[in-house]
Amino acid sequence: MVSGGASFPQKGAPVPNAETRVGVLLPLPLTGPYDYRGLDGVALQPGDYVEVPFGPRRLAGVVWNEGSGVLEFGRLRPVVRRFPLPPMADVTRRFIDWVASYTLAPPGQVLRMAISVPAALEPPRVSVVCRPSGAPVPAGFKWTPARRTVLERAAAGAPRAAAELAAAAGCGPAVVRGLIEAGLLVAVPQAADAEPVQPDWNRPGPVLSPDQQGAADTLRAALGAGGYGVTLLDGVTGSGKTEVYFEAIAACLAAGRQAVVLLPEIALSSQWLDRFTGRFGAAPALWHSELTGGQRRATWRAVAEGRAKIVVGARSALFLPYADLGLVVVDEEHDPAFKQEEGVIYHARDMAVARAWLGGIPIILASATPSLETQVNIETGRYGRLHLPARHGGAVLPEIQVIDLRRCKMEPRSWLAPPLRRALAATLEAGEQAMVFLNRRGYAPLTLCRGCGFRLQCPNCSAWLVEHRAAGRLQCHHCGHAMPVPEVCPHCEKGDSFTACGPGVERIAEEVTGLFPQARVAVMASDTLAGPSAIDALVRRVTDHDLDLLIGTQIMAKGHHFPMLTLVGVVDADLGLAGGDMRAAERTYQLLHQVSGRAGRAERPGRVLLQSYMPEHPVIMALASGDRDRFLEAEAVERRYGLLPPFGRLAALVVSGTEMEAVDSAAILLGRNAPRSDLVEVLGPAPAPLALLRGRHRRRLLVRAPRSVVLQPVIRSWLAATPLPSAIRVQVDIDPYSFL
Ligand code: ADP
Ligand code: ZN
Repeated sequence: MVSGGASFPQKGAPVPNAETRVGVLLPLPLTGPYDYRGLDGVALQPGDYVEVPFGPRRLAGVVWNEGSGVLEFGRLRPVVRRFPLPPMADVTRRFIDWVASYTLAPPGQVLRMAISVPAALEPPRVSVVCRPSGAPVPAGFKWTPARRTVLERAAAGAPRAAAELAAAAGCGPAVVRGLIEAGLLVAVPQAADAEPVQPDWNRPGPVLSPDQQGAADTLRAALGAGGYGVTLLDGVTGSGKTEVYFEAIAACLAAGRQAVVLLPEIALSSQWLDRFTGRFGAAPALWHSELTGGQRRATWRAVAEGRAKIVVGARSALFLPYADLGLVVVDEEHDPAFKQEEGVIYHARDMAVARAWLGGIPIILASATPSLETQVNIETGRYGRLHLPARHGGAVLPEIQVIDLRRCKMEPRSWLAPPLRRALAATLEAGEQAMVFLNRRGYAPLTLCRGCGFRLQCPNCSAWLVEHRAAGRLQCHHCGHAMPVPEVCPHCEKGDSFTACGPGVERIAEEVTGLFPQARVAVMASDTLAGPSAIDALVRRVTDHDLDLLIGTQIMAKGHHFPMLTLVGVVDADLGLAGGDMRAAERTYQLLHQVSGRAGRAERPGRVLLQSYMPEHPVIMALASGDRDRFLEAEAVERRYGLLPPFGRLAALVVSGTEMEAVDSAAILLGRNAPRSDLVEVLGPAPAPLALLRGRHRRRLLVRAPRSVVLQPVIRSWLAATPLPSAIRVQVDIDPYSFL
């Protein structure tokens, strides 16, 4: 350590003074903590939230270590202040460091996910509210109608700010002030954040089936015993996985610790929240991108102070600074939405396992279609498995049939084959509900000129523009670029020549409405529903049977429980199978299985019709036969053969920039500098499938190695040895999921 700085104080040690050096991690993409001088009169501890000067700015950061000592003590700038908060838990800091080193992201960028609401570091604003004092009316007090109204109003509702009370009484603020002076009203401070109502783990849950009870007992025992362990809750849709992990949450709450549940699409889970509230008598704390600033601030603080006992959220909820996390649940663990593709690139399920391991706590993964990664971890004994083989309450799994489109005579401009049309008619006739699934937003995925074949493409991306007829425009699904359908073809200048090719959900809705004009039809896609409340409203309309037919994309595939829905038609079961993505088959299987799981969840049996041009494809055959495990085995054989995850290690490097030539030469240079090793293989550079994205040209290199090789240090030194112009960005994706 450089002279002049006293050594870093141990926990509880005295010597609080400004002669101490501390390393403060800032929420910026820096390589590590920066050194600062301590605070006079304050013994800073690791984990303390502090404000420090950074250039001309002041930033909030976290005391990370005793500093690097690189800068001479005399030149250090002092910490400005410490925020009045419990320090960030040791395990959270180790987790941030671990994620940074795993993903090769700068630690400060990971920290930024943990302190994403700087305003939450400040104590909540205390407002002054007025309530009746109950004191006797002083002698000489003069009653006026305004004074009477104010007192009546103050007695009626919750305490309110003076101005609000005056407004409610229809008078000026002076009247309220007069009453405070007379001692009839008192002004009291009130914290801005309401205390969260605590969930009650003692409330009885439903009577569990023997299978469910067995699984719940095992999980409760795991929580009682404490320590790290991963358990897969493997059960068909509707088997009661949620009810079972609620029991584990109850055990965690009973132990006084916090729990977090990660859901792939938090916005879609109002039914989940209703069930949680029904079970525990209080809502959990929510964490997702749709929260308001005030909600984020209150929740962040409640989590950091240990007041919020249970958090339900999207992947980012994992990075909250829990005071004492005791359990992690990842529901739908196979879901691709857990992969974050921007900023810090990580897979939330994998990071959740790491978080549980670092914290020495149990983690539960739940799925009806576990990922191959998880499946392999079970086979090797790293994870445990609890199986729920049957749907709850005798509901049977839907019957799945394949419609071979090669043998069907389709009407022109129709995408629903006669057998599906007949099934829809019969379902509606019986007063039941049906769902038509197509994982494609908009009206048509491609618009071309009938005269010359010119296709409308996004100027910023290698992608076709998708027509959204309801919104009256063409749109790029990658960058959001939008424009009206041109009146003349820009290529051959023919007028009114553009025609829509292929279907999106809007077009299916058009066909369905034409077939069943009486049916109440709604489209459910992320662009037709503005936010969680719109989704909620639609889900409720389905459960209330205000709708007969639902046309939707994957956002309606997940979680929902619709008792009257008995038919699911899949317009294009082959859709996800094209392309070179190594997970295409697995993903398609999972998605279609999940969609099928929407049918027949209550007393009425369900039926699923899959339209396919390749009924012999292993995915389609596995869906039709329901033989999940054989399908997974076949997938495993292929991946093992190709040395692909989970049997090998894979990383992607995407080189991007706005100048194509500069990107090409950077990518070639990286390729030339590739690590020379018999074990590490580097493929590329090659244009990424989306070779142009948001105006940036992209080239990709893939790194593949056996599991015995740890790729991160290899990639780190490779990049360090390859200086590139600052206009070039290299994004490292460890365990890539998307190959775009
Ligand atoms: P999964 O999570 O496996 O899809 P859920 O936990 O959502 O299954 O259960 C499906 C439906 O069955 C839900 O409506 C749930 O409330 C109900 N259910 C499951 N188990 C029970 C039980 N033991 N008693 C009563 N209802 C149950
Ligand atoms: Zn675009």
